[in-house]
Amino acid sequence: MEKGIPIVISAPSGCGKDTILEQLFKINDNLVYSVSATTRAPREGEVDGQSYYFHTRESFEKMIADNEVLEYTEYCGNYYGTPKKAVEDMLAAGKDVILKIEVEGAMNIKKIFDECVLIFVLPPSIAELERRLRKRGSETEETIAARIKQARTELEFADKFDYLVVNGALEKAVEDVNTVILSEKMAAKRNAELLDMVKNS
Ligand code: 5GP
Repeated sequence: MEKGIPIVISAPSGCGKDTILEQLFKINDNLVYSVSATTRAPREGEVDGQSYYFHTRESFEKMIADNEVLEYTEYCGNYYGTPKKAVEDMLAAGKDVILKIEVEGAMNIKKIFDECVLIFVLPPSIAELERRLRKRGSETEETIAARIKQARTELEFADKFDYLVVNGALEKAVEDVNTVILSEKMAAKRNAELLDMVKNS
């Protein structure tokens, strides 16, 4: 069976990557989501095993020691990491695996899986990002400023990604991400077996 593709999606907070992914899973049924492990506390509505696997620092550090995470990082004082076995199993089963991780994790995944695809979701502009963060209503001026600063830092990594998708209109962004995935599935470098099969038919 053809192995699946690891697909990394990174975006600064407030760019709408969760909403894009929600829609993407509705239109592409070969995608599965890599549920990360974290030591941050669950937010309201988050379910253990679906949003994240919630861990103590101690149990997270044991996973690292036991080589059970593909990559991990410390972000805003908490550990975040990608469980290794789940991703490997899903890829082996031919599923394309979505990893919604931050930029350093993305760079590490690139080192592990040469065949992965890195997609960076951009806001239309910093001003628009600021407007969206403000619209949430839950953020203080201080956290808005911190998130904008963080976004600028993350944008410095964007040119190391394979594709940039602007989240202006949601539907278009979802379609763009799916187009990237579908095109990558047809890449000649991923289809040597198919070519051989046709040649030998
Ligand atoms: P949040 O706490 O808002 O859910 O996530 C904070 C950041 O950590 C986001 O950029 C998210 O994509 C990233 N993240 C989530 N899981 C992982 C992971 O397994 N590895 C890495 N490197 N980053 C992650």
